[in-house]
Amino acid sequence: AKWVYSFGDGAAEGRAGDKNLLGGKGANLAEMCSLGLPVPPGFTVTTELCSYYYEHGQNYPDELKQQVAEALAKVGDIAGRHFGDKDKLLLVSVRSGARASMPGMMDTVLNLGLNDETVEALAKDASDERFAWDSYRRFIQMYSDVVLGVDHEHFEEILEDQKARLGLELDTEITAADWKKIVGLYKAKVEEELERPFPQDPQEQLWGAIGAVFSSWMNARAITYRRLHDIPESWGTAVNVQAMVFGNMGDTSATGVAFTRNPSTGEKALYGEFLVNAQGEDVVAGIRTPQNITEEARIAAGSDQPSLQKVMPDAFNEFVRIADVLEQHYRDMQDLEFTIERGKLWMLQTRSGKRTAKAALKTAVEMAGEGLITPEEAVTRIDPASLDQLLHPTIDPSAERNVVAVGLPASPGAATGEIVFTSDEAEDLKKQGRKVVLVRVETSPEDIHGMHASEGILTTRGGMTSHAAVVARGMGKPCVSGAGTLRVDARAGTMMVMGQTFKKGDIITIDGSNGQVLKGAVPMLQPELSGDFAAIMEWADKIRRMKVRTNAETPADARMARSFGAEGIGLCRTEHMFFDEERIIAVREMILSDSEDGRRKALAKLLPMQRADFIDLFEIMAGLPVTIRLLDPPLHEFLPKTEEEIAEVAAAMGVEPDKLRHRTEELHEFNPMLGHRGCRLAVSYPEIAEMQARAIFEAAVESARKTGNPVVPEVMVPLVGLVTELNYVKARIDQVAKDVIAEADMPIDYLVGTMIELPRAALQADKIAEKAEFFSFGTNDLTQTTFGISRDDAAGFLETYRRKGIIEQDPFVSIDVDGVGELVRIAAEKGRRTRGDIKLGICGEHGGDPASIRFCEDVGLDYVSCSPFRVPIARLAAAQAAV
Ligand code: PEP
Ligand code: MG
Repeated sequence: AKWVYSFGDGAAEGRAGDKNLLGGKGANLAEMCSLGLPVPPGFTVTTELCSYYYEHGQNYPDELKQQVAEALAKVGDIAGRHFGDKDKLLLVSVRSGARASMPGMMDTVLNLGLNDETVEALAKDASDERFAWDSYRRFIQMYSDVVLGVDHEHFEEILEDQKARLGLELDTEITAADWKKIVGLYKAKVEEELERPFPQDPQEQLWGAIGAVFSSWMNARAITYRRLHDIPESWGTAVNVQAMVFGNMGDTSATGVAFTRNPSTGEKALYGEFLVNAQGEDVVAGIRTPQNITEEARIAAGSDQPSLQKVMPDAFNEFVRIADVLEQHYRDMQDLEFTIERGKLWMLQTRSGKRTAKAALKTAVEMAGEGLITPEEAVTRIDPASLDQLLHPTIDPSAERNVVAVGLPASPGAATGEIVFTSDEAEDLKKQGRKVVLVRVETSPEDIHGMHASEGILTTRGGMTSHAAVVARGMGKPCVSGAGTLRVDARAGTMMVMGQTFKKGDIITIDGSNGQVLKGAVPMLQPELSGDFAAIMEWADKIRRMKVRTNAETPADARMARSFGAEGIGLCRTEHMFFDEERIIAVREMILSDSEDGRRKALAKLLPMQRADFIDLFEIMAGLPVTIRLLDPPLHEFLPKTEEEIAEVAAAMGVEPDKLRHRTEELHEFNPMLGHRGCRLAVSYPEIAEMQARAIFEAAVESARKTGNPVVPEVMVPLVGLVTELNYVKARIDQVAKDVIAEADMPIDYLVGTMIELPRAALQADKIAEKAEFFSFGTNDLTQTTFGISRDDAAGFLETYRRKGIIEQDPFVSIDVDGVGELVRIAAEKGRRTRGDIKLGICGEHGGDPASIRFCEDVGLDYVSCSPFRVPIARLAAAQAAV
């Protein structure tokens, strides 16, 4: 089998389309080579080898050695250098590269091939002894850390020690002789830790590094990252071995990263950072503050550090040209890594750039405008879930800002929360329902869980491409990075700035769009949904087939949903209208009465309130469809819990509290979710359904009279399993409709339909459709009853299931296509067979989940219904499903 793919000198065995085999980095290096761009020669060991490695007890196939040796020789021929050569020395980098980029998760080794002898060869070849020894010490440090497992802090300690001894501040001030000495100390440290010397044989170094990359696929950080991003373990990583080029060969050398457009705003302008005389990780490590690439960006940032454009104009111009070639070629914003070695530009990576939702919209809309992509493509370029970011609040511009520090605007949106200094604290407090802002000197991949648990992230060190910035943008969390005036002492639990001390638990606000750190909580504004957002949504609305409705019962939610583009209400949960302080007493009265008479008395009090609710909703929805569901939850949810509450209801009903307490006990259920709920309530107490139907129809009459905008209410019966249940309830509803029509002397159009949320209903859907004019799939209950797992109790063990690979996705979040989905499919088919024009929709949580929405498109549902904040997501996801 072929395990190794070469690239270099304008040719490559792989292509951009080979991501599955070569990983993202390897595939794009191959592609850049084929485009004739300056890429150091190298080779990629495939992801298939990673799978082989794990399937064979971490062993390689026999033929691998030979293939690597041949590829390495080829690299040497192109570079005119060879491993271990005393004159023309070849050094390589070894990097991981999975299919999906996993920032910071995997490890990199640079300068591989250096040892006590070859370091002299490098010094001679480069005519720079200081550079050679600096490279060697970097190699020992990196290799020891990621391959040999010697903590990098050991080396930092030695370096700090030596700098203090020499009275130096910057690494760049250290001389060749001192680096030489530090190398000696480093090697001694390694030998002390491992009881064997640092490996000198380049071949041994190479195989050690390759093995470390494959092993790091299974390290805890990588596993966590995959879990958070739904990346299957089976994908594996590739390894890229590439001839080194050096950004640390003095002041005509540099290394940097850039985006072809601004990844934060989407603005079309080359955007990036670089460091002179530096290597690889220096830029992202946030140790030195990087410089801007373009003059424009430098001026905008108010930086007095010269730009790349200024200090290396030739390399800069070449870089601008290549950035443009790559963006045109990939037809997307690119994230680039480059190194300049003594004035010569080398490209080390290109990939589609991670961006904020705002930037994604802007780039997609502008690229469509430039004719680079079509509007359909623009619509598919936006991750629907990311729209969430845009729906986040920003700080009210008229609010008073008590600014205590300013850092970089690393990821947009504003966040308020209690200060925490560690990721574990963040997670703990989040579990208690508290909102936190994670404050760190800098973040590392170990902080992913804490970043997830936080409202926002604040760091005191690092640039726009630091770990915190990159990861926060990906997560859609507000982030301010590099707020250098803050002094964070995590151990003491304090943050000091301008003579003020903040402690853990103190409230701060960060503004990720301008980098400000503010004391206390600050008033926020809801986002504007215009401009690029509106353009994409308009295209999406043209493309999609399914309608998008909302689950809402309050006027505020209904209005919000309308402003987000909802095309009606797909689920009004009437029980939510009963928890109002004033109403709950009447509701309890109704439940606790032991006679129909008593219930009717209480219901009479509720009728006008319900009617007023529905009038509001009908007016807000202005003629759009509104589905109102009859009372559904188990009654125990309404029962009085405290003695005080019992006394209150007893007084209202004029009965003894003792009697009520007794009735409460009678109503107790062991499994209320499988108990007396849904249409079973309407069968037991038809007067409840009748009151609600009356409120609906009277509201329809009144709002039609008032607005001239007749609604067609859709009355929905929950938790039906038997067609006879629906028959019984529907007869009551129809009777009430008839009465109200006669009383009002006005025709009303209405539909009666049912939820499909029990397996039996799905299987009997053809019979049920004889009565039901629409189906709405209640996939929350349908998931619960299909799996036989409780939606309220499952979260804990489902997480274990996910971790152990038993399930890939929480079925309450994303629809289980094979099981629950199959029932939906059967019901949709059966329903249509009986009633060709039956309206089909979904109103479970899945109605706002992009993957589930795709499934709904496949089954041919007419609409999805979701919570107001998910409406834009659903509009976009429905369009993507239809493309
Ligand atoms: C459902 O079961 O999917 C549903 C929408 O109803 P509820 O969540 O109110 O039970
Ligand atoms: Mg339900």
